Amino acid sequence: MKTLTKHVLSKSTFVYGCQCPKRLFLHKFKPELKPKISEARQAIFDTGTDVGLLAQKLFPGGVDASPESTYEYQKSVLLTKDLIRSGVKIIYEAAFQHEGVLAAIDILVKNGNKWEAYEVKSSTQIKEVNITDASLQYHVITGSGISLKDISIIHINNEYVRKGRLNISKLFRIESVLKDVLMTQDIVEKKIRELKKLLKNGVEPEVDIGPHCSDPYECEFTDHCWSHIPSPSVFDVSRLRESRKFELYEEGTVKLEDLNGELELTAYQEIQINSYLSGKKHINKKGVREFLSGISYPLYFLDFESFQTAVPLFNKSRPFQQIPFQYSLHYKKDKSSDLSHNFFLADGQDDPRPAFIEKLLKDTTKKGDILTYNIGFEKSIVNKLAEDFPQYQSAMTALSERMKDLMTPFRNGDYYHPSMNGSYSIKKVLPALVPEMDYDKLEISEGEMAGIAFRSMMINPDADRKKIRADLLEYCKTDTLAMVKILEVLETV
Ligand code: SF4
Repeated sequence: MKTLTKHVLSKSTFVYGCQCPKRLFLHKFKPELKPKISEARQAIFDTGTDVGLLAQKLFPGGVDASPESTYEYQKSVLLTKDLIRSGVKIIYEAAFQHEGVLAAIDILVKNGNKWEAYEVKSSTQIKEVNITDASLQYHVITGSGISLKDISIIHINNEYVRKGRLNISKLFRIESVLKDVLMTQDIVEKKIRELKKLLKNGVEPEVDIGPHCSDPYECEFTDHCWSHIPSPSVFDVSRLRESRKFELYEEGTVKLEDLNGELELTAYQEIQINSYLSGKKHINKKGVREFLSGISYPLYFLDFESFQTAVPLFNKSRPFQQIPFQYSLHYKKDKSSDLSHNFFLADGQDDPRPAFIEKLLKDTTKKGDILTYNIGFEKSIVNKLAEDFPQYQSAMTALSERMKDLMTPFRNGDYYHPSMNGSYSIKKVLPALVPEMDYDKLEISEGEMAGIAFRSMMINPDADRKKIRADLLEYCKTDTLAMVKILEVLETV
């Protein structure tokens, strides 16, 4: 049986090395420093795989050369060679290895006596890093003796609106990147030589932290490389450009105590830093009272949860559109009255939006302002629902006009607590104002996790639906109860 020596570099490790040589080194020699992969990140990978499989339908009838595991790529390389030799015209996950560098391509199609390569991305635009990927693929494929006529990226068309059955050719866009790829071949070859040398030497490169730690990807070694940065630091200064933060760091200004007038501070930044240095909260009574005078009982407290998918699941929806599936709604007739609670949580069987709208309109028939936290999100959902379901347009527009934002006094710096650390998200404001309430004890503790949990309930028949529903209800209810408690604190000012 034929065998092949294991590769030194792959497409992923090449991209790691281009981002930061230290990232490549740590990945290869100190993988134990990587934290466990988060649910959110895993969900992104899964999306990529699903979209890749769907895009294969643009070129039906191909043969799959993908390996059974990531450790068996050499078998894939040999299988690809055999498939090409035996005259197969469409290959999925074709793998190639050239001078120790491995690269697979999502779809390879024979056109005449030349080949066309297609790489699938679940994003809506082509980014610079996608060109880097494609350049490496081109180098390896052509280096393996394959004549490539073209190389393209297949990505999601964000203008596609689903109407009935999924239209694959409208969902995807195909763009040739051959021109850019040809222009970058010399750079790719030079980079490969550099990275191979780095791996051969086995000496950890000295690379300091910088904007490259999150560009083009969030690096998984930040816990390790950023361990010398105290909390809080200049990186926590609110609304400060990232480039300015790194300039300060490079000048040796890291702690907030070190700022010493080096920065021209905005009013909010001044509040943040003074509050940290004094350890005292900052309250602008006039600002808080002005906000309170703009809202009037009876009050609703409303919070939505939503999910998004690259491939639209329902009619009248686009790729990555936020689809609301849950809300929590507390109601208070006046300052001292008891709270009542209503909610909606879709069953995950079909499009949740019509039932969501109907129940929401029914639950908000009493007059009164509707408080949200970070109004932009809830308003955009309501406005999009009004657009997509015109039969509810006037009622949804009227609902949107009743919305007020509880985040306002915190975003304006009228109420600031040192533990908010430059943030006015509800996850920071709640423990600062109402320490007895805590998101950390919840199974689902942030919006992204809620969306992932709901999607898993929709697509996975083995999911523990009862538990997921209970966790979702608890999480969303906590968000609106948090708003009630935060308002109570503001009312004492
Ligand atoms: S955290 Fe930054 S410096 Fe460290 S390996 Fe990652 S990219 Fe490089």
